[in-house]
Amino acid sequence: MSAPLLPLSVSSRIAAIYAEIEEQYALVAGQLDFSCTGCPDNCCDSYFQHHTYSEWAYLWLGLQELPAVKRQEFEHRSQQYVVQSSAALGRGARPQIICPLNDAGLCGLYSHRLLICRLHGVPSVMTRPDGKQLFFPGCFRCQEITGDGKELPRMDRTKIFQDFVQVEMEWLGVKRKVLPKIKMTIAEMIIKGPPLFSHCRI
Ligand code: SF4
Ligand code: SF4
Repeated sequence: MSAPLLPLSVSSRIAAIYAEIEEQYALVAGQLDFSCTGCPDNCCDSYFQHHTYSEWAYLWLGLQELPAVKRQEFEHRSQQYVVQSSAALGRGARPQIICPLNDAGLCGLYSHRLLICRLHGVPSVMTRPDGKQLFFPGCFRCQEITGDGKELPRMDRTKIFQDFVQVEMEWLGVKRKVLPKIKMTIAEMIIKGPPLFSHCRI
């Protein structure tokens, strides 16, 4: 039997962070009386790159649970996504292409969707290690509700990101020193297959 992609202790911690995000998101959305219901847009066409091996592996835990035929469909769409996004980037444009995991407007891997998918929508704030605060206004539809109000209910991203860094550090251990930094779209994570570190001798 092959080794699991992620130790259970790590996947459980990621699931717990995601659950905490859902709780915080629901609280702020409730305070703002905001929801995605009836939204004319679909923010799953936003271009994002992701930076952690642990989220990459967790995404693949979800992909591995799918029937092979569904996974192959996502892989095929991912190949198309990469071709189209590379063409857009080559023209100097930011790609605006629907995520390969989006099925008719809904996330096809909802319980394994990535951090940024979970944060997008409501206003949030993050305090950097140097103390500087970064403010995120929420999606265009949420901004229609909030205007440019400064004293808004907000999610605080600080601890969420700190927790993810901690998970990544503890899981990768010394391998972190030799592994390349990653910056990949979901499509690229799917095409590459799960992170296996077979080339890594540490
Ligand atoms: S993973 Fe799911 S929620 Fe995130 S962009 Fe893709 S379809 Fe949308
Ligand atoms: S997060 Fe905002 S833009 Fe995205 S689907 Fe929800 S309401 Fe629409």
